[in-house]
Amino acid sequence: MAETITLKLTNTQETKLYEAFKEHESRAPAYAKWQLKPEGAVITCYESGKTVFQGKDASVYASSFQTAESDEFPQAGSDEVGTGDYFGPVCVAASYIDKDHAALMKKLGVRDSKALNDEQIRRIAPELMKNIPYSLLILDNGKYNTVHETNNMNAIKAKLHNQAYVNLSKKIALPKKIIIDQFTPENLYYRYISGEKNIIRNIHFETKAEDKYPAVGASSIIARYAFLISMDRMSEEWGMEFQKGAGAPADKCAKEFVKKHGFDNLSKVAKIHFKNTENL
Ligand code: MN
Repeated sequence: MAETITLKLTNTQETKLYEAFKEHESRAPAYAKWQLKPEGAVITCYESGKTVFQGKDASVYASSFQTAESDEFPQAGSDEVGTGDYFGPVCVAASYIDKDHAALMKKLGVRDSKALNDEQIRRIAPELMKNIPYSLLILDNGKYNTVHETNNMNAIKAKLHNQAYVNLSKKIALPKKIIIDQFTPENLYYRYISGEKNIIRNIHFETKAEDKYPAVGASSIIARYAFLISMDRMSEEWGMEFQKGAGAPADKCAKEFVKKHGFDNLSKVAKIHFKNTENL
């Protein structure tokens, strides 16, 4: 019987699958990284991170990648927000997710956390924070600018992720499976945090992990929520709206801020090493 099975594979699994059947490679359709046609199935790996198995033997090929829930959960994952934004803090969250938490996330409508808009984040994040173990760190702009004098952005991120796990481990024992949405290679990550008192090890690093691991997705949502709330507070405090990102709208905003509050206050709301400061 023909069937279709859709899986989100890790980068390692994608490579393993490709390597196993690459002599059956055929022309990839639009939005696909590759397509394989081994006997009895068509396997297509899409840019979106989804891999689709079709044909009478689809389940035969997919089965070794359909992990049991018991292997998948519990898991811990972390993600950060605000590193590409001129205004606002850097927020890092780490979350612990078991299979009940994962079911709750599905119920709340979390599938692709990147696809959620701000309104959905404001609605879903408080529900998650009520129901799952997490830790959250918010590095405000004043502290960020000081720390950045001696640490590059990736070093700052690494220290925050590590500290988020240290804090999470005080709430709940960390599971075997810990995932960081990768922003720097593993060896550099550990080099950045080599001077820290407590170092959390045995972490799996993977890019685009927020859609593949619910714990990373939850952390991404919580960090985004913290960022939004921080921006709300800044707006109240300084009597103006702050734009996200680091493009022309942020430039315009910076000019308005300096005009209203003076250049000296800029380091309280912005990451001053960004190019935007030169555009003033
Ligand atoms: Mn990320």
